[in-house]
Amino acid sequence: MCEFCHKHGEGKKWYLEAKNYGEDLLSDSRRSKMFTKFFSGPVDLDAAVTGMEKLNNLPNYVRRVITWNTTRRMKQVHYGQVLPIEDVEKIFGFVNSITRLACICRQATTKSEQRYCYGVSMGPNGGKFSELMNQGAAASFLAGPDTKGLESVTKEEAIAAFREHEKEGCCHSVWTFITPFIGGVCNCDRQDCLAMRSTVTYRLPMMFRAEYVAGVDPEICTGCRSCMRVCPFGAIGYSSAREKAAIDPCMCYGCGICRAVCAKGAVSLSERASVPAAAKIW
Ligand code: SF4
Ligand code: SF4
Repeated sequence: MCEFCHKHGEGKKWYLEAKNYGEDLLSDSRRSKMFTKFFSGPVDLDAAVTGMEKLNNLPNYVRRVITWNTTRRMKQVHYGQVLPIEDVEKIFGFVNSITRLACICRQATTKSEQRYCYGVSMGPNGGKFSELMNQGAAASFLAGPDTKGLESVTKEEAIAAFREHEKEGCCHSVWTFITPFIGGVCNCDRQDCLAMRSTVTYRLPMMFRAEYVAGVDPEICTGCRSCMRVCPFGAIGYSSAREKAAIDPCMCYGCGICRAVCAKGAVSLSERASVPAAAKIW
């Protein structure tokens, strides 16, 4: 179990606890201000990436101190965790509304509206999430001439879209807006998602790995390597001698993207806690 499961889930998966989605948490003025500020316009991705590149050039001990402090602060404000599709389905099963919206990171990188993000709420019709977005989001983000704005979707529509995003190679993730309040579930890729890029490329953690680890059944694997091509974390190797793929549990984030593309059904996810090599790696 990750640190948030212990702190905010009483030892169970914290993102499956309905209280962490509570409308009452959004009534906190600090949180509602942060929420509207976050969505006030596309992030300055170029500036953020330049900052992270500079971090890489610092002496190791300075880098370690800055990384530790930044991650600690992000854990209090806006932190994520990778989720496999079955846990996304569980979340959509108990929230009362799902609102699709443009991804703020992709708005910055592609300069176009890419609808990969989903606000989740215990309230009906988008709850306070939609209320705050309508009040606070800047014209450059949600109110431009070509935007669809906030779009209410059913659980079935949301799950179908997530399955499509998974086939595109996107990794599902859940996000806090002043922890432990959870306001969104997203579909990230390493190029456009600032948090994923920061965590994986620049080793500045902004998201936990999933509570799971993937493994390949060598009896079933035919060695086609489709899984290797899609793993965003470079966790899959290939044995030429055995003609089989194999997953390094220490590098696996448990996203399940490899499982989605394996036509043979050779990949499965196990609870991270049951895999000694990965049990303490977040
Ligand atoms: S996609 Fe499946 S069958 Fe192909 S190499 Fe990966 S695990 Fe093996
Ligand atoms: S091996 Fe599979 S589950 Fe693990 S990180 Fe790669 S794609 Fe995700």
